Amino acid sequence: MKLSLSTSVEVLTGVGPRRVAELARVGIVTLDDFLLRFPLRYEDRSRLVPLAQLEAGRTSTVAGTIARCGLRPTRRPGFTIFEAVIHDRSGRARALWFNQRFLRDVLRRGQQVVLYGKVESTPSGTQLTNPDYEVLAEAGEVEALGVEPKPSIHHGRIVPVYERVGSLTARIQRDLVHQALERLEEPPDDPPNDPLPRPVCEEMALPARREALWHTHFPPDDTDLDTLNRFRTPGQVRLIFEEFFVFQLGLALRRRERQGEAKPHAIRVDASVRSAARSVLPFKLTAGQRAALAEIVEDLQRPEPMHRLLQGDVGVGKTVVAALAAVVVMENGLQVALMAPTELLAEQHARTLTQLLQPTRFSVRLVTGSLNAAERRVRLAAVASGEAALVIGTHALLEEPVTFKQLAFVVIDEQHRFGVLQRARLREKGVLPDVLVMTATPIPRTLALTVYGDLDVSTIRDRPPGRQPVKTTVRPESRRDAAHAFIRHELTRGRQAYIVYPLVEESEKIDVRAAAAMADTLQQDVFPEYRVGLVHGRLPAEDKGRVMTTFAQGEIDVLVSTTVVEVGVDVPNATSMLVEHAERFGLAQLHQLRGRVGRGAEASHCILLYQSPLSDDARARLKTIAATEDGFLIAEKDLELRGPGDLFGTRQAGLPTLRVGDLVRDRDLLLRAHATAQVWAGTLTNLSAARRSVDEAWQRRFGLVGIS
Ligand code: ADP
Ligand code: MG
Repeated sequence: MKLSLSTSVEVLTGVGPRRVAELARVGIVTLDDFLLRFPLRYEDRSRLVPLAQLEAGRTSTVAGTIARCGLRPTRRPGFTIFEAVIHDRSGRARALWFNQRFLRDVLRRGQQVVLYGKVESTPSGTQLTNPDYEVLAEAGEVEALGVEPKPSIHHGRIVPVYERVGSLTARIQRDLVHQALERLEEPPDDPPNDPLPRPVCEEMALPARREALWHTHFPPDDTDLDTLNRFRTPGQVRLIFEEFFVFQLGLALRRRERQGEAKPHAIRVDASVRSAARSVLPFKLTAGQRAALAEIVEDLQRPEPMHRLLQGDVGVGKTVVAALAAVVVMENGLQVALMAPTELLAEQHARTLTQLLQPTRFSVRLVTGSLNAAERRVRLAAVASGEAALVIGTHALLEEPVTFKQLAFVVIDEQHRFGVLQRARLREKGVLPDVLVMTATPIPRTLALTVYGDLDVSTIRDRPPGRQPVKTTVRPESRRDAAHAFIRHELTRGRQAYIVYPLVEESEKIDVRAAAAMADTLQQDVFPEYRVGLVHGRLPAEDKGRVMTTFAQGEIDVLVSTTVVEVGVDVPNATSMLVEHAERFGLAQLHQLRGRVGRGAEASHCILLYQSPLSDDARARLKTIAATEDGFLIAEKDLELRGPGDLFGTRQAGLPTLRVGDLVRDRDLLLRAHATAQVWAGTLTNLSAARRSVDEAWQRRFGLVGIS
């Protein structure tokens, strides 16, 4: 049978229904999936360290024969140690595994094994603790092979080590990958199998695809091990680059296509429009706000629709910028829609904007799911007739049969909850509206290029004058009483406070109970003379909204919360926040949380209580959050510490699932791919054909479908 990249892994000898299922569970269905999965690391098994020469402190690969092995008795109940002594011609060494009782059934006397791990020196000799292991040959086979087995794909060379998948050990996968590469007939070097255009490949001096695949899995002998483990050999770079390139080309083509589109409406800015905008201006804009507004208004006046991201940390004042842009559009007799991720935020926007637009003739309508049918009909009629110039709602606005008279401008707040996929909806709705997406989650440039690569970006970095930095302190939980005393002091001055508990998803119910109990204790024992409220993720949206509104109106003094208090909630009188178990929160989360305070003119405080012992990562997070309020810096650090997956629950955010690329490790290649794709897209003449083939590749590689 002719094997091609799209052939299912089940054709491989040794892959039956069970393994097909196991592989499918981690997303490996075709040979392509299998081959585009990098080894975790590489081991140089051509230069094994003789056991007698092991050096403590180094991570080494050794091979030898098991002289004896078995479980060692320990005094601690439930705690097991499996010990193996191996020998080679030079000497012997010991390996210990903790709590891996099952090794009894895996390792046996006489087996030839490879071990990889950190070498330690102990009074009883050199030892490896919890090393990775691989059985090269069973006892009987070793006799046949001699003590040093002949080179194969598993030893006597640099070998790839794969992450275990179900019952498929690294060794089994090595066999299968080798088999796949050998049997692959369809050349991976030709389009459509090669997503990298030949000129690009040549210009970057990248190897052909087949060679890249071979060298990535079975590197030639003279390959530098360190370069391999940094994933920077020419073959690895080629595969990473092509992945980024395909994604970036898709974005670049979308962008190019749009440049040829003409929106049906024209927006002009003359003296009267300017003066209308000025009339709503409640304060002097910061330099950052002015620059962003200028970019947006410039886009509005262009013939093609705007697709712009406005990013800026919480509190930099994005809303007023969007509002001024909206005034420009409405002055041109056109309609604007503003969408927020939750009803609560939609209501907050409606309040702010209704007030802001008071001096104008434009009317605002809030359309949410909680309206009764009659009221809803009335409001929708106003939208359809054009009487409502500004419509505010949740993104349900997109899905419902809301008709506009002439929708020309769509503002989406808090983009990361929407994502690339949902953005497509807009275009079906309005007739090529100008689109402004606002996000308060500063994202590192690399991520921005990935998620928002087809958008132009405006960034506000400065803050409105008079803001004081939030004073952040990190304390052990033994200081809880002092923290409560501090909050009490703020309350006596008429301020409000947040107390936040982390949510551990596995036991959400227990967490909620704990938070509820905590709220009771806080009310009865700690702040009896104040009003303590509770909000958590399991509350129905309506109840949550009610509690938040009560808090916003100042009728709750201390708000206990298990959830990250809604992004964007604006209660300037809340000046202190106490975060329990701060070590459990991610950096981006802590930053978002802290953004709930420091929203007024008063000095604000954030106290982070942690439980010992702190992991290195947790320590790094707390240190970072205490040191800076710069959301971009924090986001960069977060990406470094946690990887992009955890940042926003990737799929929903429309982030592609990268197979070989790593947004942190391969930042340089991503930037390069971005630039290269822009240039390449510019040279293409048959756009729709290019677009079709990229769309196909997107679907195959990233599982992103139907994005316009
Ligand atoms: P964001 O949406 O960017 O988090 P908001 O638009 O909610 O921020 O603005 C935060 C607060 O700052 C609001 O109360 C707003 O009225 C105020 N504000 C915005 N811009 C300015 C400015 N240039 N000068 C003074 N206050 C401002
Ligand atoms: Mg906002």
